[in-house]
Amino acid sequence: MERRTFVHTTAAAAAGLAFAPRSVVGGRTRADLVLRGGMVFDGTGTPGREMDVAVTGDRISAVGSNLPAGAEEIDIRGLALAPGFIDVHTHVDLPIFENPNVENRIRQGVTLEIGGNCGGSPGPWTEEEFQRTRERYRDRYGVEIDFRDPAGFLSGIDRLRPTVNAATLVGNGSLRTFAVGNVDRPATEAELAVMKEELRKAIAGGCVGLSSGLEYAPSGFASTDELIELASVLKGTGYPYASHMRNEDDRVLGAIEELFHVGRMAGVPVEISHLKAQGRRNHWKHPVILGLIEEAVRTGLDARFDVYPYVAYSTGLTNLFPTELRSGGTQAFLQRLRDPATAATLETHCRSKIEGLGDWNSIQITSAGESTSWAVGRRLGDLATERGMEPYALVLMLLEANRGSVGTIGYGMSEENVEELLAHPLGMVCSDGSNYAPYGPQAQSSPHPRNYGTFPRLLGHYVRARKVMPLEEAIRKITSAPADRMRLEGRGRIAVGTFADLVAFDPGTIIDRATFEAPHQYPEGIPLVIVNGVITIRESDQTGQRGGRAVRGAARL
Ligand SMILES: [Zn+2]
Repeated sequence: MERRTFVHTTAAAAAGLAFAPRSVVGGRTRADLVLRGGMVFDGTGTPGREMDVAVTGDRISAVGSNLPAGAEEIDIRGLALAPGFIDVHTHVDLPIFENPNVENRIRQGVTLEIGGNCGGSPGPWTEEEFQRTRERYRDRYGVEIDFRDPAGFLSGIDRLRPTVNAATLVGNGSLRTFAVGNVDRPATEAELAVMKEELRKAIAGGCVGLSSGLEYAPSGFASTDELIELASVLKGTGYPYASHMRNEDDRVLGAIEELFHVGRMAGVPVEISHLKAQGRRNHWKHPVILGLIEEAVRTGLDARFDVYPYVAYSTGLTNLFPTELRSGGTQAFLQRLRDPATAATLETHCRSKIEGLGDWNSIQITSAGESTSWAVGRRLGDLATERGMEPYALVLMLLEANRGSVGTIGYGMSEENVEELLAHPLGMVCSDGSNYAPYGPQAQSSPHPRNYGTFPRLLGHYVRARKVMPLEEAIRKITSAPADRMRLEGRGRIAVGTFADLVAFDPGTIIDRATFEAPHQYPEGIPLVIVNGVITIRESDQTGQRGGRAVRGAARL
């Protein structure tokens, strides 16, 4: 992209005082910063208008034409100015402590992460889990984890002060691990009471909803009734129950019915996480799915969904196997793969899943341990041919060698369906991503490119090139829509008094550069990102200033 020159008109700016105090000129309070002449999209879906935006402290202090000079001035003529992007479904969670620069996220213009998705949140942890987590973070990243539950995580974020803001849901899988353990059985009355109490505590501490990841253990060990009971804690708060549903392919329609049933019975809003009809043989279900959602909304259920702008999903290799045969932990699962009593069932299920996707090359390995690092970044079919192995035998070998922990990407969605989901008015756009950087320990795996490219890809590829929706609508889906859904006051809009989370980008050049083969690449066309009034990206580079903090929901129990 064309490099833009920023005009700094004052000494304070030249000295780089990102926290310049309010100064009083001629008896009037002068703004700390004025962004001059950008095409301002306020986040509500209104088309852009050329205006100035003034920032004082951590808030937007004025929006209008010809605003008086600020202590610092930045000329953003020719750029779009939007509220900082809110990623409604992420797994940044604990990994935010690995690297508070959160490089791959802030450089996309993301200023607020909604974590705790797919049933997994940072706690609540049992004493043993807490110690294990603390040791892992100490050893690997040299950081001290000093909290034990999701509300404590929010306080931890305030102390860490990362580049981005963070809010979190509470995962039913985490609640279940805490109260029941990783076992496939119904929770007892007493255990359910513990889960509800932990959820209540988390919500009182600022968490913004409940999540589940029903294709994963132990989240998926929860029955529909247990989920209703748990979700009912949210009643009256307006916070959603967000679900990575029990199934996303052959039984996806039933899974949607289950989610809606939970929402209706518990009396809470619902959100379908990373919606898709996975696998070639299920693509026809797409219009049926949209019909179900629209019908549910028409009949009074507050239902929404989120979707990421890619035709491939990201999960673990164990995802090729049924949840019910993954209970009891990794060792038990690996045992079942070898046990003649269960081996055949597991193999049949895996092969059927592959058939539904297309072929073995529909699966690409994204992470694996040292001994099988040759597999990282490669597709299963190609690898099997190359090594003269039967593909299923290769899967077993990879699982054994890595004790079940192998990251994968699955090419399972249709481009046409993805475009329709992105543009649908009930949908929001998410990355489903985590914290990565092209350096250090975070560069060691080959993650899904959505981690680096989601928002620039939405605005550059899908809006500019494919024209799937107007720019202002795409911006609404990643600003005010998620802020409203999670009841986050003062976020997701450009208006006087809201927090100064801002992103300036070039609508003509913004684009993702991360690919499935080379994911660790920053996007282009995003020269300026501000978080709580702190200039974090300037001239497309990190300033080293970090203004992020925990964002707590507005609802009270
Ligand atoms: Zn998920």
